[in-house]
Amino acid sequence: THFGFETVPLAEKQGRVNEVFRSVARRYDLMNDLMSAGLHRAWKSTLVSMLRPPRTRPFRHLDVAGGTGDVAFRVAEAGGERTRVTVADINPDMLAVGRERAETRGLSRLEFVEADAQALPFGDAVYDGYTIAFGIRNVPRIELALREAHRVLKPGSRFLCLEFSKVDVPGLDRLYDAYSFNVIPKIGELVAKDRDSYQYLVESIRRFPAPGAFARMIEEAGFRRVTCRPLSGGIVAIHSGWKF
Ligand code: SAM
Repeated sequence: THFGFETVPLAEKQGRVNEVFRSVARRYDLMNDLMSAGLHRAWKSTLVSMLRPPRTRPFRHLDVAGGTGDVAFRVAEAGGERTRVTVADINPDMLAVGRERAETRGLSRLEFVEADAQALPFGDAVYDGYTIAFGIRNVPRIELALREAHRVLKPGSRFLCLEFSKVDVPGLDRLYDAYSFNVIPKIGELVAKDRDSYQYLVESIRRFPAPGAFARMIEEAGFRRVTCRPLSGGIVAIHSGWKF
């Protein structure tokens, strides 16, 4: 089975992506743990430690493609009382799971907003921080999402993007390929009963721009001091940029 995303025109891509996340929403968190062997938790913690939300002054944070709230919960916990987090995601099913999880955890400093990363329903220069984790590769026009990130951030604040990257350790690259092409769709089939969605996941990781090219896109959107920090041998990377 081949999902055939390669041939999907840009205008249709979002529809297909929405279909994928609608169908996996209820199993999403379990699948994340299974497929990354829990590693996604460490990666998200590193992301939040780079953000370092201050505990002593108000902090307005925006987590885009925030899905079921994983990153937002960590930001809210790290920042404490004075941190407010907006979770923006295009998919109402993912947001619904996120709202339930927030309620269960008794977290009230969060809001969940249905929104497209490419056209955010927020004003200019209103946020102190922006994160997007495993989201940007799903967005049809990455350059629009980056420009929107730059627009909504206040001067002096930081953009952080956690995304799959290029494995740069000899040996690990082949192991990783074998894992992603064979094991991930299989787990998808067995646990989520949805092989195609996880086939899409693997293909979308393959097609995402290489670290250097992605860093240049972030610069083109207006960010400065752009850096890339690979984690776990380059399975994922955190790109950072500052708005001045
Ligand atoms: N950030 C969460 C995490 O790390 O667990 C969720 C990541 S999930 C792999 C990708 C999310 O991107 C999905 O919830 C999907 O609905 C969302 N998404 C896809 N296209 C989007 C868009 N154009 N704007 C906003 N969110 C989008």
